[in-house]
Amino acid sequence: MTLFLDHNKYYRLPWSLPDNAISWLEVTKACNMYCEGCYRGNNPKGHKPLDEIKHDLEIFRRFRKTDGISMAGGDPLVHPDVVEIVHLIAQNGLKPIINTNGFALNKELLQELKKAGAAGFTLHVDSKQGRPHWKGKTEIELNQLRLYFAEMLAEVGGLSCAFNSTVYGDTLQSVPDIVEWGQKHIEIVHVLVFIAFRAAVLEKHFDYYAGGEKMDMSPIVYSTPEEDQRLDILSNDIVEVIRTRYPNFEPCAYLNGTEKANSFKWLLTGRIGTKKNIYGYVGPKFMELAQISHHFRNGRYLAYTKPSVQRHAKPMLLLAPLDKGIWEIAKNYLRSIGTNPLNLFKRLHLQSITIIQPGDILCDGTLSMCDGCPDITVWNDQLVWSCRLEEQIKFGCFMRPVPKRGVQNLPHELRSDPSHEL
Ligand code: SF4
Repeated sequence: MTLFLDHNKYYRLPWSLPDNAISWLEVTKACNMYCEGCYRGNNPKGHKPLDEIKHDLEIFRRFRKTDGISMAGGDPLVHPDVVEIVHLIAQNGLKPIINTNGFALNKELLQELKKAGAAGFTLHVDSKQGRPHWKGKTEIELNQLRLYFAEMLAEVGGLSCAFNSTVYGDTLQSVPDIVEWGQKHIEIVHVLVFIAFRAAVLEKHFDYYAGGEKMDMSPIVYSTPEEDQRLDILSNDIVEVIRTRYPNFEPCAYLNGTEKANSFKWLLTGRIGTKKNIYGYVGPKFMELAQISHHFRNGRYLAYTKPSVQRHAKPMLLLAPLDKGIWEIAKNYLRSIGTNPLNLFKRLHLQSITIIQPGDILCDGTLSMCDGCPDITVWNDQLVWSCRLEEQIKFGCFMRPVPKRGVQNLPHELRSDPSHEL
């Protein structure tokens, strides 16, 4: 039985196609590592020239308000002009966020990137990467590597530090260990992101069509000949497993699916506390205030809060009359001061935990994507989902899955709910 979460209790993020917090800029198709959950084919000669990158930024400027630019690929750090690209994005008044596996990162490069205007890093670390010296390590063992990166960023300072991990059927149970590790390093780790693994199964329920033509999906990196692992992990499952360690864990905001109002494609949680105590979870009004006030002041929604704000969470408690979550946090914090007055002098930190449930194929072949997708990228001067870019590259359009046996032949329990995910 899937954990029930009521989307009506949470704040629906106001992000949309033309006005979003984030956009996704692919600067290279080259990568120095293999990751099982990657959506992009590796091409060592796939660096985008600077002129093309400038053009992509111009397309974003034309079509979409955005606060942060997630530099992605491939691995952006292997692009020979990565520092210049960061500078270019920052010059355009946007926050450059570097999405990387961190393998090519060192202190010198980090300092150069910061000087060029980098706002932060999202470091992809998980146990299904072909990472030299770390192969076969568990998610718990990998916390040591996460700490290495977090400390490197903290030493340079002023950079947002986020970690993302793809969640597989056999690593789902490790999520609470990463969340607990995040708490122990709450002063230097600002965001944790968990992404449920997805792939298109070739020989199961669907044929795949480009227009009226049936296509072979096997060259697409995110296709798999058969379902050898779970492809149906929901955001709800990830919340459920986190609650085994943090029973009060409570999200505050979400993006729904394009086909399902009550699915959680992006599910955001903010917790406030110290290394030792989590005092509680911010509520929907807090997130609404953060997004709306940022948009009012800057004309765009907020992406990646500055570390200097996240480490000064105490003044946020003044919002207690407006937000139930903050009210609870304030109460718990005051109680803790009653027990130990020294807590009054401890710094409170805000840490975000985001859960992403990428595209789902519904039983009638419809794809439910993230409504208000933040990871939209540019392809042929158009805005497209970055998670399905390979289809555009290989077939010139997005594939349409068609049920092999027709919806009427599906098992009854699926037919009775045409929006049921297979
Ligand atoms: S639709 Fe795809 S690219 Fe967009 S946020 Fe969801 S998973 Fe990412």
